[in-house]
Amino acid sequence: MEKKIIFVLVEHHDKKVHPVSWELIGKARELAAKLDNSEVWGIVLGDELENICNEAIKRGADKVIYVKNSRFNRYINYEYQTAIVNVVKKYNPEIFLIGATLEGRELAGMVATKLETGLTADCTGLDIVSDNRTGKKILAMTRPTFGGNLMATITCPQHRPQMATVRPGVMKSLPIDPKRKGEIIVENIELKDLKKLIEFLETIPVKTESNLQYAPVIVSGGKGVGGPDGFKKLKELANLLGGEIGASRAAVKAGWISDEYQVGQTGKTVRPILYIACGISGAIQHIVGIKESEIIVAINKDENAPIFDIADIGIVGDLHKVIPALIDKLKQLLAKSEVKK
Ligand SMILES: Cc1cc2nc3c(=O)[nH]c(=O)nc-3n(C[C@H](O)[C@H](O)[C@H](O)COP(=O)(O)OP(=O)(O)OC[C@H]3O[C@@H](n4cnc5c(N)ncnc54)[C@H](O)[C@@H]3O)c2cc1C
Repeated sequence: MEKKIIFVLVEHHDKKVHPVSWELIGKARELAAKLDNSEVWGIVLGDELENICNEAIKRGADKVIYVKNSRFNRYINYEYQTAIVNVVKKYNPEIFLIGATLEGRELAGMVATKLETGLTADCTGLDIVSDNRTGKKILAMTRPTFGGNLMATITCPQHRPQMATVRPGVMKSLPIDPKRKGEIIVENIELKDLKKLIEFLETIPVKTESNLQYAPVIVSGGKGVGGPDGFKKLKELANLLGGEIGASRAAVKAGWISDEYQVGQTGKTVRPILYIACGISGAIQHIVGIKESEIIVAINKDENAPIFDIADIGIVGDLHKVIPALIDKLKQLLAKSEVKK
């Protein structure tokens, strides 16, 4: 019986892979375990990207399709669409996963319409379920909808591939396994006849200070922080811990911090080792974005705040006193460890 293939697009910029691609290969392995007789395949487009192909295997891919052409080193939507549609038609994957980055979301829509198949955008959950009507195993794609007020689970029972873009930071990537082996299939796609519709002129870097989604420690502030100045202390604590600052929607809405720091259902989903929630009540829309954190510390002056229901460590107190005390203590400990070194 032919193997069912789960495709994962490996997105890269300047030879660096977007972490969401490794997260998706990790998730695809889980899905493959539930889907009988299946394999995970990565797709890499570009040139001189052998290292990336090899890493895809070590992160969980069984095979990698390497569409080798230097024109693909830079993302141009209709060129990628042409190449990917070709590869999909040749190998007929069952499932096709793409990161819900700006590029991924644009590309997935273009590929799905060309292939006349179903696509669910910006998923936060994926699972293999049994179709009620046919009993066949299909992909259940879950995503927030209506501004995050409703979670919808969508399936694509008939058309193939079943396509989804997935939010960065939600799925977990697998560690590199140096022993994993796999096959790299080089594909050549002719682009000669393709008209140049888009001409690339220059890259203007986006000014972004936050690396929230991949920070090991996040010190996050809510309405209880009291104003933009309060975030300075949070930033000091975050710096000492080698982390980043985050915020609740209430703090963003108050204009105390920019929305790129917002954590939660309509903000970023994070999974740091340590999440310190300062003056955050713990509304469900905030919790869904942090619940995968390894350790949650809550500082809140209301002992009944719902944040304490999910916190591993709770401190009932005024954050304007607790945080400076934490900073002082940390500085002392760090100074001691410097001396020891
Ligand atoms: C569709 C939808 C999507 C949403 N998406 C998000 C989202 O992505 N992210 C998000 O965060 N919210 C989101 N929300 C909003 C969410 O419901 C809450 O309103 C929000 O999370 C509350 O933020 P907060 O905890 O900072 O503020 P509050 O609920 O006002 O809580 C402030 C807390 O600070 C404490 N406090 C006050 N002063 C101090 C002090 N000096 N020291 C210690 N503690 C103090 C208080 O006891 C209180 O618990 C969404 C809402 C909707 C309807």
